[in-house]
Amino acid sequence: MDAQKIKKFKRVLVANRGEIAIRIFRACKELGIRTVAIYSEEDKTSLFRTKADESYLIGKNKGPVEAYLSIDEIISLALKKGVDAIHPGYGFLAENPEFARKCRDAGLEFIGPSVEVLEKMGDKITSKQVAINAQVPVIPGIDKPIQRIEEALNFVKDHGFPVIIKAALGGGGRGMRIVRNTDELLLALDSAKSEAKKAFGVEDVFIEKYLDSPKHIEVQILGDNYGNIVHLYERDCSIQRRHQKLIEYAPAFSLSEKLRKKICEDALKLAKSVNYSNAGTVEFLVDKTGNHYFIEMNPRIQVEHTVTEVITGIDIVQCQILIAQGYPLNSEKILIGGQHDIQVNGYAIQSRITTEDPTQNFAPDTGKIDVYRTSSGFGIRLDGGNGFTGSIITPFYDSLLVKVTAHSRTFEDAVSKAVRALKEMNISGVKTNIPFLINVLTHETFLKGLANTNFINENPELFN
Ligand code: ADP
Repeated sequence: MDAQKIKKFKRVLVANRGEIAIRIFRACKELGIRTVAIYSEEDKTSLFRTKADESYLIGKNKGPVEAYLSIDEIISLALKKGVDAIHPGYGFLAENPEFARKCRDAGLEFIGPSVEVLEKMGDKITSKQVAINAQVPVIPGIDKPIQRIEEALNFVKDHGFPVIIKAALGGGGRGMRIVRNTDELLLALDSAKSEAKKAFGVEDVFIEKYLDSPKHIEVQILGDNYGNIVHLYERDCSIQRRHQKLIEYAPAFSLSEKLRKKICEDALKLAKSVNYSNAGTVEFLVDKTGNHYFIEMNPRIQVEHTVTEVITGIDIVQCQILIAQGYPLNSEKILIGGQHDIQVNGYAIQSRITTEDPTQNFAPDTGKIDVYRTSSGFGIRLDGGNGFTGSIITPFYDSLLVKVTAHSRTFEDAVSKAVRALKEMNISGVKTNIPFLINVLTHETFLKGLANTNFINENPELFN
């Protein structure tokens, strides 16, 4: 290894909050790196800031979300505090090429892929083009920003309804509309554009066929700065509500071995075609006849990375930090000499406990947590955010409270452990979705691995 290429980090700033900030602080500490938190005024009493070695208020009077989007302020704070690198987590600035560019221009390492890759892959239209060029299958669609309604009408003439309109920069299940007839199409296009402009700053939208009840399968990728890229196998993230993931598991055991292998190979092919570095996820939909289609790539750490970590034994966040320091995958720090070094051990399931009330259509609940007693025991991993007895849950951010990851040698036992752990949780003062999660985990269709992205819609009894 060329020692010149290694730039050891002494201090890392995490430009994020909540559970993912804590997750990254832990990885840094294990690597002997000092941690720097930023927090908004609304997060003054949040737990995550106490888990860092230093923490600084950011974005005064800017608003709860805008504070974490204050690019110039974050960079100048990092420079002032002698920070070497910034980890963006997920959401906020994680996929923002301008932020990555400004970090690097300021001499700070951005812990993520290159600016060029962020530009290409952060946009669903250009990333679909990358997939087409790499000969990875995509869903039939108009793979450019739609300018005129005639383009959309021509598409449905050839391909029929239903179709889905998606914002090029959409994320988190937002910016999508399912359209089932011409009247809806005429209405939806303009409103989708203006909504996209408002939510994501760019009005570009595109159209593709809406698949009937597919499975969402995604592949974890890890690449270093020297062109070495591996996959860490796949996750099944089909349990979704309003296109947002709720429960994820790995491996996706209900797919045939052949299909799993093909999807992982295609993910790798795509990542290699852009010389991907750092951690990323290639997402696919699999239709009922077993065809798989690329939908997007997330060039960042994902909420559900934990299931992959526990079945492979690889700490993905540590790898991100080591890769950004210049360590190759085959270094003694990372120990991935090639694809053969990635072994899958058992089954893992992640359940996202949120402060939402399933009996009130998942309305976010806020207020003080009176009791917060967590589960533990063999096969259970918790990644918590702001949960402790006495903590205040505010309405300003997403409602993820703690992630429960269960791991065992069989899927059945991983489910038993997950259910046991959820029942062992004792949280009062704010409502949580725990009863709903248990209903999903104990449903026959889920247990067989057969739930698709419509599972929650199709099973209203889960809400009881
Ligand atoms: P986001 O970036 O907001 O997460 P994605 O493109 O990853 O959006 O899609 C999120 C979810 O929306 C998918 O997992 C799937 O459930 C649904 N979806 C997206 N595109 C289609 C499609 N063409 N057909 C059917 N469902 C889709």
